Amino acid sequence: MKDLRKDYVLDRFVVVPAASNRVESRDIVDGKCPYCPGNESMTSPSVLSLVAQDGMLQRLSDSEDSVVDGWSVRVFESNDPVVSTTSSSSYSDKPLYSEPAFGYHQIVVSTPDHKQGFQNMTVEQWSNVLVVVQDRVRWLYTQKGVTYVAIYINSGISAGAKTPHSHMNIVTFSAIPPIIELEAEGAHRHMNENGNCPACSMISVESSGPRQVLATDNFLSFCPWASTYPYEFWIYPKRHVTSFSKITQKEISDLALMLRATLGGMSKALDGAPFNLVFHLSPEKKNSRQIHWHIEVYPLTGNISGLERGFGVSVNNTRPEKSAEVLGSACRKELASLVGIT
Ligand SMILES: [Zn+2]
Ligand SMILES: [Zn+2]
Ligand SMILES: [Zn+2]
Repeated sequence: MKDLRKDYVLDRFVVVPAASNRVESRDIVDGKCPYCPGNESMTSPSVLSLVAQDGMLQRLSDSEDSVVDGWSVRVFESNDPVVSTTSSSSYSDKPLYSEPAFGYHQIVVSTPDHKQGFQNMTVEQWSNVLVVVQDRVRWLYTQKGVTYVAIYINSGISAGAKTPHSHMNIVTFSAIPPIIELEAEGAHRHMNENGNCPACSMISVESSGPRQVLATDNFLSFCPWASTYPYEFWIYPKRHVTSFSKITQKEISDLALMLRATLGGMSKALDGAPFNLVFHLSPEKKNSRQIHWHIEVYPLTGNISGLERGFGVSVNNTRPEKSAEVLGSACRKELASLVGIT
């Protein structure tokens, strides 16, 4: 169980263990990985196991006494959740504010193969993962107390992963996370002043410019003009769409190719650097401010300095144009090998 504690003055929340918290982390035990096939009993029962059979995808789930075998993607409730739907802690207001960290925290094991990374799984497997994530996002938004669904990858122990086995996290919140609030607010202001979506105009500026990394039929990836980190890149759908849950199967297949090519290229260019990948989606509540949905990838190539931590000022020692040149050439090679052009 966790609590959300609010800062003394700022509108800033931090998740901390509640007083009643029982430490219950079942990571690699006796050399056994809980995310590997055969070790399903080490996790909660699956809420969704995607099984590929005769070219068809079946959506199954574990029952009390039986586990679905032969899965290609498996989803279950985290054993060490950031948020929980069964929180036993309560609200406190005085003298300091805290509330139970309410929500769902699901783990999406992205491949049955322990050694397969996001950068070297097949495009088809990536597509299966995206189908599952879209399924989960749609379901979670129908649940009570879910205002926002955060989807992210921690790849590598220094990026926050608890096991090397490839997986994604899906965490829901009852309020909109601060960065999404800022992006939505900025987009709303731009829309009022200029009458168009800032991301749509950004896409036309960054297409075929010096910061472009890769383009597919429906997606564009580029290093942003004011990148916070070296080799940071973003992936945007070229058409204006506010939520990942609304994209078509054809777009999912194209996004799978884009993700596989860029993560594969990045891994080769940066020698397998750990990374975080996040989905930025619009809050789906009626009348809330919308953003052009996208993915942001932050490779971990350096450390955070006092200027960043203490003042919120980022110093990026690699020009985004240079990052795009390095990533672009590696990612184009990767794409060519994936689609069979040499
Ligand atoms: Zn494993
Ligand atoms: Zn747009
Ligand atoms: Zn964003």
